[in-house]
Amino acid sequence: MTRNPISSTIPLDGQGVQHGFLRLPHSRDDSAWGSVMIPITVIANGEGPTALMTGANHGDEYEGPIALQSLAVSLQVQDITGRVIILPMMNMPAFAAGTRCSPVDGANMNRSFPGRPDGPVTQKICHYIATELVPLADIVLDFHSGGRTLDFLPFAAAHILPDKAQEVACMAAMQAFNAPYSARMLEIDNVGMFDTEVESQGKVFVTTELGGAGTATAYSVAVANKGIRNLLIHAGILAGQVQLDPTIQLDMPDDRCFVFAETAGLVEYLVDMGDTVAKGQAIARIWRADRTGEAPHVCYAGLDGILTARHSPGLIKVGDFVGLVAVVV
Ligand SMILES: [Zn+2]
Repeated sequence: MTRNPISSTIPLDGQGVQHGFLRLPHSRDDSAWGSVMIPITVIANGEGPTALMTGANHGDEYEGPIALQSLAVSLQVQDITGRVIILPMMNMPAFAAGTRCSPVDGANMNRSFPGRPDGPVTQKICHYIATELVPLADIVLDFHSGGRTLDFLPFAAAHILPDKAQEVACMAAMQAFNAPYSARMLEIDNVGMFDTEVESQGKVFVTTELGGAGTATAYSVAVANKGIRNLLIHAGILAGQVQLDPTIQLDMPDDRCFVFAETAGLVEYLVDMGDTVAKGQAIARIWRADRTGEAPHVCYAGLDGILTARHSPGLIKVGDFVGLVAVVV
């Protein structure tokens, strides 16, 4: 098979603190011998476990990039045993454009794994990460939030897996992250996800949804910062005590959790995120955006739970996601 054209400007097995780039040659109209430069930091001290921490898998989600930029300048090499590989902006073309998908090839990175060494830009990045970085890792943390069109209660999540020992390890890591909400997820459409690739390599994997609406808040970034520190302690890389605050356990059992818009218009939420809702309760109504005098279309919860995610911003299209009702365990 073709060799992946990405190369690292720093050695991945070096000791100490190194900041560099994964460089992907990308010949194009505005730069004939240009490159996609993906920032990477490797911090290593002696023998020990490796953590891989990634942000901006989707380019418009900001808690990961902020918290991982902060980690890359604040983590002291003498405080760790093992190695931390930090990619704050793994999908650099999308991050630079402030978009979910890559403007270079239109691809959604989290549906493009395991990628190809001879594919378009997004697939090359996925292939490099899957074949060169994930195999080095014992534990992987991939940050997500809602991006420009969704907003979430801050939760860490682990997946229901066929290998129950691996599932237990992932759930323990997710609980160590200790977000205000902790979710056990059955992924409905997992083909091509980074999550699925990492889990298929037998690694411990934690993901998050920490906010959204195209920005990050002081609160959501604090959740990310604490989660990183806790996870590094849990993995045995950083010394100290995991800081455990109260967390609400959520379950997302099936499709009834999700509500989608069957009409377009102006969305009015009747409950806010974190509010308790009952099966059959109206959670939102959609007003006509182009005329007066018509009753709104009403959207209902499919089961008992709490409103865990919602659409953003104010106008909604047919087929858009309206709300996620998760079950409190
Ligand atoms: Zn995402």
